[in-house]
Amino acid sequence: MKFWRKSRPAVLAGLIVALALLMGSIGFASTQSVDQFLKRADQIKLDDNDAFSGLLKQLDAQSNQLTELQRDWLAYFHAWQSGYLGEYPQALAAFHDLLARVSDPTLRARTRISLIYDQVNAMHYEDAYATVSNLLESLPQITDRNAHFLVLITAAYLYTYAGQYDLALGYIDQAAAYDHSESSVCIVGDSRVEVLYESGKLRSDDTRIQPVIDACRRIGAVNDMNSAIRYQARALLDAHRADDASKVLRAHDAEVLASHSAALISDFRVTLAQACLLTGDLGHANEYAQSAIAYANKQPFAKSVTEAYDVLYQVAKRQGDDAAALAWHEKYAAADKGYLNDVSARALAYQMVHQRVLDNQRQLEAANDANRLLALQQQVEAQRARTRLLYMLLLLSGLLIVGGWAYRTKRSQIKFQKLARRDGLTGIFNRQHFFDSAQDSLRYCAKASREACVVVMDLDHFKSVNDMHGHAAGDDALKRAVAACQVSLRSIDVFGRLGGEEFAILFPDCPLTVARQRADAMRESIAASRREGDAAADVLVTASFGIAGTPECGYNLATLLAAADDAMYAAKRAGRNRVEAYQPAPGTAATPA
Ligand code: GH3
Ligand code: MG
Ligand code: MG
Repeated sequence: MKFWRKSRPAVLAGLIVALALLMGSIGFASTQSVDQFLKRADQIKLDDNDAFSGLLKQLDAQSNQLTELQRDWLAYFHAWQSGYLGEYPQALAAFHDLLARVSDPTLRARTRISLIYDQVNAMHYEDAYATVSNLLESLPQITDRNAHFLVLITAAYLYTYAGQYDLALGYIDQAAAYDHSESSVCIVGDSRVEVLYESGKLRSDDTRIQPVIDACRRIGAVNDMNSAIRYQARALLDAHRADDASKVLRAHDAEVLASHSAALISDFRVTLAQACLLTGDLGHANEYAQSAIAYANKQPFAKSVTEAYDVLYQVAKRQGDDAAALAWHEKYAAADKGYLNDVSARALAYQMVHQRVLDNQRQLEAANDANRLLALQQQVEAQRARTRLLYMLLLLSGLLIVGGWAYRTKRSQIKFQKLARRDGLTGIFNRQHFFDSAQDSLRYCAKASREACVVVMDLDHFKSVNDMHGHAAGDDALKRAVAACQVSLRSIDVFGRLGGEEFAILFPDCPLTVARQRADAMRESIAASRREGDAAADVLVTASFGIAGTPECGYNLATLLAAADDAMYAAKRAGRNRVEAYQPAPGTAATPA
C-alpha cells in the first residue's frame, strides 16, 4: 500500500498548520480562504497527519461558515482520516454516504479513489475492483486535472495489485501522457518501476530508475523516491550485487524511518535484511527482519512479513539453531500461505469484476445488436410499405391513364360514329345511315305487318336560289326546309338527306292517306318558312313531295324510294310545290330501282 503517495515536505506542512491555527483563531476571511485551507489539508494529510487532524478540528469549529461543497470536502477528509487510522468499516460507510449525495465530479472521483484504497486495506478486493471499474467509466466527466491523473494512477496501482501488469502499464502510459510536471514524472515513474519489478522486468541498470529518483528528490517526494530506491535495491539483489544493494538502502534508511510510513519502512527493512543475509551480516539481517515484521503488523499478509520470516529462518539455520529455524519456518509457511491466499484473492476479485464488466458489455452489445436489427427490420418494412404504396400509385395512375385514354377514345369514337351518321349541314341522317335505319324499320314493319310510307322531297328550282342569292343563302334555305319538316316528325320516323337538295322520310306504321296529310303539312311549313331577322335577304323556297306506300310497293326500300321518286317527279311536272302519291299502272307492280 502506497500511503506515501503525493507526500510533501514536513517544513511546508508546519507552516501551513501555523497558518491554519492563525486563521482558525480569527475565523475564515472568505470562501476562497476556506478552499485554500481544504487544499492545504489535502496536501499535508500524509506528511503531517497530526497537523492535518488539527486542521480538521479548526474547520469543524467553523463549519457554519462553509458552503455545502466545502462541508462535503470536510466530510471526505474525516472519512479519509478514519481509513488512515485503520477504522475501515467507518471509513467505507462514510465514503459510501458521500457518494450517495455528492454530485461534484471531482469530489466524487476523489472519494472513489480513497474508497478503493480502504477497500483494499479491508481486503474487500471485489468491491475495490468494482469501484475502479466505475471510476474509469466516469473518467471522461472528471475535468479536474489532479483527480483525473490520480484516477489513472489508482487504476495502475490496483491492476498491478491483481498481477495485471500490462493493463497497469497502459494506465501508467496514459498518466504519463496526461501530465509532464516533475511531480507527475515522479509518481508515474515510481509506479512504472514498481510494475516492472513485480512483473520481473526490472534490471538493476535500467536507465528509467535514476530519473524517477531525481525527480522525486527535486520535489521533495521522499517516500516516492525511497520506494524507487527499494526497487532498485531489489533489482541489485536479483543481480547478486548484495553489497551495492545494502549500500544504497543503508544510505536512505534513516530518511525512511523518519517518514513514519509503516508499510514503506517494512518493505525497506526486509530488503535490507535480505541484503545483509546475502553479504553474511547475519546480525543485521536478523535485526532488520524483526523490524520489518514489527512495522508490518497492521498488514498481516504483507509480502514483507513473509520475506522477513524467511530471512529469520535462513539466519537461524546458518547459525545452527535448528529449533529456532523450525519455528521461523513454520511462521514463514503460515505467512506465505496467507500472503499467497491474499494474492490469489486479489487476482480472483479482479477476474470476477472483469468478467462481470465483460458480461455487462456483452449484454449491452447484444441489446444494441437486437435494437439495430429491429431498427433495420422496421426500415425494411417501412421501405416495403413505401414501395407497395408506390406500386399502387403507379398502378392507379396507369389505370387512370389507360382508363382516361379508353374513355377519350370511346368518346371520340362515339362522336365520330355520330358524325359519320349525320349530314354535316342539316344534322339529319346522311344517305347511308338513312338506308340502314329505314331498312331496319321496314323489316320490323314487315314482320309486324304494319303499313309504312316513304316520302321523297326535292326543293324546287333550287339551282336558281343559289344562282340568285349565293351558296350561303342556299345552305340556309336547306336548313330551314329541314327544320320545317322536323316539326311534323314522330320519334319513330326516319329522316335523311339523300344528296344535294333531295331528302327522304320513312313513316313506319303509317297508312298512305295519313302520310299524304303529313307530307302536305311539311310542304306548307316549308313554303311558309322565313329567314329569321333578315327580311330583305329572304328567300322563298318550296318543295315537291312524292309518296309510295308498302301496300302498293312492298317492304323493299329501294323499290319504295324509286316509286316515291317517280311520284315526286310527277309533282314537279304538275307544277311543283305539291304532294303526289305513287300510282301504279293498273295491273302492274312497282319495280326496284
Ligand atoms: P327542279 O325544281 O327541277 O328540281 O330544279 P332545280 O334547280 O332544283 O334542279 P336540280 O335538282 O338540277 O338542281 C339542284 C341544285 O341544287 C344544284 C346545286 O347547285 C344545288 N345544290 C345541291 N346541293 C346543294 C347544297 O348543299 N347547297 C346549296 N347551296 N346548293 C346545293
Ligand atoms: Mg334535285
Ligand atoms: Mg330541285
